[in-house]
This record gives sequence, structure tokens and C-alpha cells, in this order.
Amino acid sequence: MIVGLDIGGTKIEGVGLEKDLPLGSYNTLITHREPTDKSNYQDFLASVMRVIDKVASCGQIESIGIGCCGSVGSDGLMQGANVTVLNGQDFIGDLKARIDVPVAIANDADCLALSEYRDGAAKQATSSCVAVIVGTGCGSGVIINNGLVTGLNKLGGELGHNPLPNYSPEKDGKQIKCYCGSLNCSESFVSGSGFGRTFSEKYFTADSKQIMSMVAEGDSRAIEHFDLYCDQLARVLASIVNMIDPEIIVLGGGMSNVDAIYPKVQSKLAQYTFTKSVKTKVIKNVHGDSSGVRGAAFLHLI
Ligand SMILES: [Zn+2]
Repeated sequence: MIVGLDIGGTKIEGVGLEKDLPLGSYNTLITHREPTDKSNYQDFLASVMRVIDKVASCGQIESIGIGCCGSVGSDGLMQGANVTVLNGQDFIGDLKARIDVPVAIANDADCLALSEYRDGAAKQATSSCVAVIVGTGCGSGVIINNGLVTGLNKLGGELGHNPLPNYSPEKDGKQIKCYCGSLNCSESFVSGSGFGRTFSEKYFTADSKQIMSMVAEGDSRAIEHFDLYCDQLARVLASIVNMIDPEIIVLGGGMSNVDAIYPKVQSKLAQYTFTKSVKTKVIKNVHGDSSGVRGAAFLHLI
């Protein structure tokens, strides 16, 4: 059994998966959730171990993959995690001391890419796919030649902090400084919160769900703004095609649930790619909220 853990600010979810040998897909043997104990590192570690122990009651664990914000620094210690008790800790080392199996860690976009590439929306891809999360933020996970691209600086896929391609204040609204320090980051426009921010700047305060309700009711301002959003997203995805040229781009995160995005973005994509007959498909994820735990479990298989 391979195990995936998804560590978030409110809960820790664990899943035990076993390969279905004739079909080659993975069956879920067990899932278990615990609230994330953030009071101190030792209590946090204990809550992680409670999830692992529960999952282990279903079979022998071969490996553990962890989906988590933050990353392991060059000194082996955690950094940049929003569960802040993790930062500065040898989290992987401490887990290995408690359960002697291979342990790996990746971020949510990498886990989405692995989950969908292995047996989800991108399973027909033969060697490459990019998964893009358009939710609260925007990031991507990149698979090339069957391998996850993390990179020298652990920045592989940090697409959301490239400037929005073809940005113009007349079309896209006034320039905005991102929390990362850069101007006009793609995330400030194509994340779900960016979609709401740019609408609110132009008309009145509304979030992405409210805007999409207005689109459904035929509100011309909301429809025009949604068209602009799809154009901005097409520009961002076209930059992926021009750089990596993946077979499939899978969308995840809150905005990926808006079905009207797919035909609009697909039809606009070729306006911004180097070739005008682009074959790359932009499709919705299959595994939804389970992508975090599933992709984490697959970290050792790729
Ligand atoms: Zn940024």
C-alpha cells in the first residue's frame, strides 16, 4: 500500500492506495482525517502520526508522500509552510525516525499534476502534462518525460508569479503589486481571488462565485469580465505551450469548476501561441479535492 498525506491548515488527510493489477489504476483502501494540531511541533507531529497509524491499520505501508505548502530547504529543514510550527523543523527526518519507509514531500500543484497524470484527466498523455491551479492563488505542477520538474531553486511551475503576458492597463486594469514584490503577477488576475479583485475594481465588490451567478443571469458586465478572465487565462496557458508544449493542461482549484472556461480558453489559446494550430487540450481535473492526497501517494512512483 502506498500512502498519501495532505497537510493543510485545518486538517490532515491520509489515504492508502493499492494498485489494481489487471487495470493498473489505484484503489482507495482507506481515508482518514484529523484536525491539524498547530499548537506546537510535537503535537503537530503526533496528529500526523495518528493519521499514519490509522491508515497503517489497513495494510503494510511501502512509502509515504506528503502534499504540503512549503518546501524542504537545502539544509533539510522545512521553510515557507503556512502551518508555521513546521518551519525550521526536520519534518521528513522526524517521520522517518518513527516509521522506516521512504518519505517525500511536494506542493499542492505538483500533487495535482501527479494525480491527474497517473490515472486522471491526463492519463492519455504519454510523457508530459502541466497542471495549473486557479484557486485562491495560482501555481502549476510540471511533468516532462514522465518526471516531475522541481528545479534547482525549487521554483519549477511557479507560473503565477510571472507577469501577466500582454498586460495592458486599458484592457486588464491598473497595475498591481503582488505580495511577492513583483508587478502584475499572473496570479493577481487569473486566480479566483484575482478574478474577483479585478471585477470589484471596475464595478462593485463581488467574489468569483457571485460574478459567475451574475453571468448565469445574463448580466452584461459579468459576462464581459468573464470573457476578459478567459482571455487572460489563455495568455498564461499559451506561455506554457510556447515554453513546454505539453500534451495536456489540467486545471484545478475553484475556478476549474466553471465549465464554461474550457471552450472559451481553448478557442482563445491559439491567438497567443507561436503556432496557430495548437493541439494541446485544456481540461478539467477528474479527482477534484482528492488530488492532494492521491498525488502525494504517487510521489514515489515517478
Ligand atoms: Zn507575485
